[in-house]
Amino acid sequence: MAKITKLDDIVSLCKRRGFIFQSSEIYGGLASCYDYGPLGVELKNNVKRAWWKNVVQMRDDVVGLDCSILMHPMVWKASGHADKFADLIAECKKCNVRTRVDHLAEKDAEHAEEHTEHVAIDSVQAAAHDLSRKLCPSCGTVGRFTEPMPFKLMFETQMGANVDDSMTMQLRPETAQGIFANFRNVLDTTRVKIPFGIAQIGKSFRNEVTTKAFIFRTREFEQAELEFFCEPGTDEQWFEHWKEARFNWYLDLGISKENLRFREHDPDELAHYAKGCVDVEYLFPFGSGDWQELEGIANRTDYDLRQHQRGMRTLNRWFENGRDVNRVTLADEAEDYQSGPLSYFNDEQKRRYIPYVIEPSAGIDRSALAFLVDAYDEEEVRGETRNLLRFNPAIAPIKAAVFPLVKKDGMPEIARNIYDDLKKYFNCFYDEKGAVGRRYRRQDEAGTPFCITVDGQTLEDKTVTVRQRDSMEQVRVSTDQLKGHLREKLDM
Ligand code: ATP
Repeated sequence: MAKITKLDDIVSLCKRRGFIFQSSEIYGGLASCYDYGPLGVELKNNVKRAWWKNVVQMRDDVVGLDCSILMHPMVWKASGHADKFADLIAECKKCNVRTRVDHLAEKDAEHAEEHTEHVAIDSVQAAAHDLSRKLCPSCGTVGRFTEPMPFKLMFETQMGANVDDSMTMQLRPETAQGIFANFRNVLDTTRVKIPFGIAQIGKSFRNEVTTKAFIFRTREFEQAELEFFCEPGTDEQWFEHWKEARFNWYLDLGISKENLRFREHDPDELAHYAKGCVDVEYLFPFGSGDWQELEGIANRTDYDLRQHQRGMRTLNRWFENGRDVNRVTLADEAEDYQSGPLSYFNDEQKRRYIPYVIEPSAGIDRSALAFLVDAYDEEEVRGETRNLLRFNPAIAPIKAAVFPLVKKDGMPEIARNIYDDLKKYFNCFYDEKGAVGRRYRRQDEAGTPFCITVDGQTLEDKTVTVRQRDSMEQVRVSTDQLKGHLREKLDM
């Protein structure tokens, strides 16, 4: 039988054990913002490391990048975010709470969450939305909403100290545009040849209308994105490749197969430039169980690079003669397509083209939440409840904890030596306080795969007890073989 995990259990464990705290808690907290505590930061770093290892390190055809969060305003103009990155919202006439139209549930329906792309700011699209049976999630009133209106999602800030020359800038709502903006730089400075990808992990910001479910949807979050550039005509094959690769990444890191699925986007859900899009969804324990997006994988065609070529030409023209910035003609675009700065020249084929892009875009915080939910377990052991996180070793915050059984007979010194040696290779924890059973339980809750105990027998034969988290099985390993034993089991 599938285990039932409640989000409340996860939230409470995260707080109790220092995985995740509410931001600014000492001042009453800041809604939808969270801080990762000592165990949480290890977990999150491990998720990022696992992604980077799989997507960059283990491949010959992907390189990394780390771009700044603030970018030239033309980036957002060209990408379409400045004009289109908005959610359609409606305000409840009774309680004045605003909700995303695609998140409104029908009266009597179990779930909301239709799936729509972000809308163009200048198109209200009210006609397409019949809200007469929709339920306000805040006060429960049915069908009393204002006309839907677009709500801008990008955060703004000011750059520059002087009033006259300060400029309004946007915090990036995705990391991908930094990759497109550096496409030429990467081509010119490395040996990459198409097909190849550029990967980036970093913070993104969206002024989400509704935030929800702990770290699932927040206004500041981290994304791991890959833009994989390929020859037009090979894009569908690469799309399939990345679908499979990304799905397997979650499975290999321990997510149960029954909690993971693909959801293909309907054609009317697709962004106008996208040729295909699929979400990797996880069965999160919100309400009565909810399939929700973990990652989107899209075939973005040559849209982004073309848009940036257009943006570059627009800006150059503006500098040259200050003319109407929108006057880039079809002829200009045709020329750019053949020889533009973001086109690619294939040496062997002696042919120039704008590459197509396959984009797997994952949320690090959402993935961390899915790993927490999937690893969480409770079991009865000798009349007591044991809470544990069955993390895959690669993402476990602590790989091994080292204990002396008691604080005497030289056991702490031996345990310390073992700890000092092991911590050079992976994250370890030393603990000598309290009953050893308690110490095991604390590590179970932190998801530590192995506990090593120095006891009376260690003094006689130089062996220690190695206890495995999931089975609680204990084996004796000689101290000089301990490092090899653990590295093999941890696969690191
Ligand atoms: P949603 O429909 O849930 O708002 P989206 O389709 O707009 O998400 P994308 O733009 O495809 O999301 O972003 C890629 C990934 O980034 C998502 O799959 C998700 O894991 C993560 N992500 C997006 N928005 C947020 C957020 N507000 N909080 C946490 N993670 C997010």
